[in-house]
Formats: sequence, structure tokens, C-alpha cells
Amino acid sequence: MNQPTSKATACVHAGSKADTMTKGVNTPVFTSTAYDYLDVDVHAYPRYFNTINQQVVSDKIAALEKGEKAMVFSSGMAAITTALFSILKTGDHAIFQNDLYGGTHHAITNELNRFGIEFTLVNSLSASDFEKAIQPNTKLIYIETPSNPLLKIIDIRAISTLAKANNLITLIDNTFASPINQNPIELGIDIVLHSGTKYLGGHSDLCCGAIISSEELMQKAWSSAIHFGGNLDAQSCYLLERSIKTLSLRVKQQNLNAHAISKFLEGHSEISNVYYPGLSTHPQHDLATSQMSGYGGMLSFEVKIDPDAFVKRLKLIAPAMSLGGVESTITSPAQTSHSKISDEEKEKAGISNHLLRLSVGIEEADDLINDLNLALHGNT
Ligand SMILES: *Cc1c(COP(=O)(O)O)cnc(C)c1O
Repeated sequence: MNQPTSKATACVHAGSKADTMTKGVNTPVFTSTAYDYLDVDVHAYPRYFNTINQQVVSDKIAALEKGEKAMVFSSGMAAITTALFSILKTGDHAIFQNDLYGGTHHAITNELNRFGIEFTLVNSLSASDFEKAIQPNTKLIYIETPSNPLLKIIDIRAISTLAKANNLITLIDNTFASPINQNPIELGIDIVLHSGTKYLGGHSDLCCGAIISSEELMQKAWSSAIHFGGNLDAQSCYLLERSIKTLSLRVKQQNLNAHAISKFLEGHSEISNVYYPGLSTHPQHDLATSQMSGYGGMLSFEVKIDPDAFVKRLKLIAPAMSLGGVESTITSPAQTSHSKISDEEKEKAGISNHLLRLSVGIEEADDLINDLNLALHGNT
């Protein structure tokens, strides 16, 4: 298929199939789970990831991530674990960045050893520290950038170059950037993973995930995926397709809003630190510029005042976990994603009790800034 090259156009058109029966412009929702076995051309079954609604949205996501093929799953974790277990077997070793989404960190530390799979968590962003972790039985390197919640940036090109030199498969969780701001396959990464629950879905009402890669690695992932059964139903596939039509618009606005908010916060007397890759004061701002086409809608900051009281005074920005929705939400990493680790470890990881993570929505930036400003001045 001739894929549109501009992402805004791909969001609207790639993959989508107009309804030939009624001449409607949208892809119809096909809910059947049983298909005519006498016609080999229509052998479809949802758990085989080959029904029309699954394929349409997968093709759209593959076009946006510049991959050959994609598959959609019922959650980000279903996509992540399927990808990992399609590559790893007993006796293998895997290398992970330590700054991972909490659920991924929990999954690997609880699951891999039980299957006789070894792993190393690298507590550094430097490719040379990843190189030191390579063993004769290492199979893959897994990274996440920008990271949660401190928006650290890892050099995608350096990691993929290191992996290629050592015959390792690279995986990246591209959820925070979204395909609009970062295309890791173009930077040499083998497998891109998404929690579609976040930016792809974008309305805080859909739980899904995606794997994007080459035909060859997707064939491997598919062979495991049909056993693990983490497929997405037709209705959700359609909702995801519909959501992605506005992904470029949404993310561009979120980039602008987050940039404006980070600048406002940086100059505020009640704020001690702002973490946003778009700020020239971010320690890896130049690296972010070299591998991202936008800095994203996620930022974190430390307040000098009582963080709970501050959050309670916000009127527009909702205290909520998860991220990537059209509405702005704020969360305390110390009380949510990092609540189970000790205070000492939290300090070491830079997660103070005064740290707040903001997922910037598509509201008017001035309204968001006003909300933050009033809440910051509430107890001065
Ligand atoms: C939410 C999230 C996941 C997990 O996705 P689910 O859809 O909740 O299973 C993985 N990685 C990142 C970065 C996330 O934010």
C-alpha cells in the first residue's frame, strides 16, 4: 500500500478502509468471531490478529512508526510481555534501562527469573554502561525515553549501534514520545512498543497496546501472541483508529502547551526544579533535539510548598494517574508509581515527595498556567 509520508495525513488516512457497501467514509466495525472455513481468503479469528479492524489500526500505527508491520493488543503490558517472551528463552540474558515504567519494572523483576531468564538493570544512561552489562548469552536491550517520571533522555542511536555490533535485538517503549515526536525505527531500533492507553487512545477511555517492527520480528511476535491471547476486540480497534486520526493535532498542541507551562514553572518562586526536555536547561536538551521532532506533553517539577495541598487547590488540572489524555492530569510519583520503594531509594532515584508529574492536555495553555499559578499562590 502507498502510505502517506506526512504524519498528519497518515493519522487520518493510513490503513483506514472506506465502507464499500454503503459508501460511508469510515471503516465499518466487523464484530464476527466466526468466518467461513470453505473460503481460504477469509480465514480470520481475533486471536490470530487478522480481522479487518485489527489490521486497519495496525497498518495505521505501522505507517506512523515507519515500521513494516504492527499488531495491537488489549494493553500496553500485553504488548510488552508478548514482545519479550517472543524473543527470550531459558538461559538467556536481557539488559533493561533501570528507569522504566513501573509496571514493566515489576513485570520483569517478578517474571523473568521464574523462567530461568537472567537480566541486568542498568542504572545509567550511558551506552558504555550498557556495553559493560553485555554477556555471552545476552539477547536484547530494552530502553525507554523520555523516561518516567524525570524525563531523562537516552541516546537511541548509541544504543542501537551498540546492539547491532553485538547482534542484540533492541526494544524501546515509545509511549511518552508518541510516534508524532519520535520514530525509533529510523534511529536503528528493532522493536517499538506502545501503551496505546496513553497518547494513541488519547481520551482516557481505552486500554490497549502495540508492537511495531520488521516483517521478520513481527512474525516471531505473532507466533507467541496467538498463544498468549492479548488481542484487542473490534470495537476497541475502531475506537483506537478513530482516536489516532487526531493524534498529530493533539500531540502538536500538547507539545506547545507543555513548553509554555515548563517556561512558566521554571521562573516561578515556589518551584525548585522543572524537568522538561524542551527546556535549554534540561541536561540532555541537545540529545532530545537530535532524536525527537517535538518534546512531548509530559513534564515534572518540584514544589516548595505542600504538594497535596497544592494539587487540591487546582481546579482545571485533575489529580489522576495515567497520562496522554486530552485533559491535563497531575500525579505524585512518590505516592503512586514509586510508592512501594523505600524513602532512601526514592531519594537516590531523584523522586522526592515534592515531585509532581504533569500530563499536559489540549486545553488553552493560558488557562492551565492560570490554574497552576493560583494554586501555587494559595498558601503564600
Ligand atoms: C502505561 C504505560 C505502560 C503500560 O501500559 P498499559 O496500557 O497500562 O498496560 C507501559 N509503558 C509506559 C511508558 C506507560 O506509560
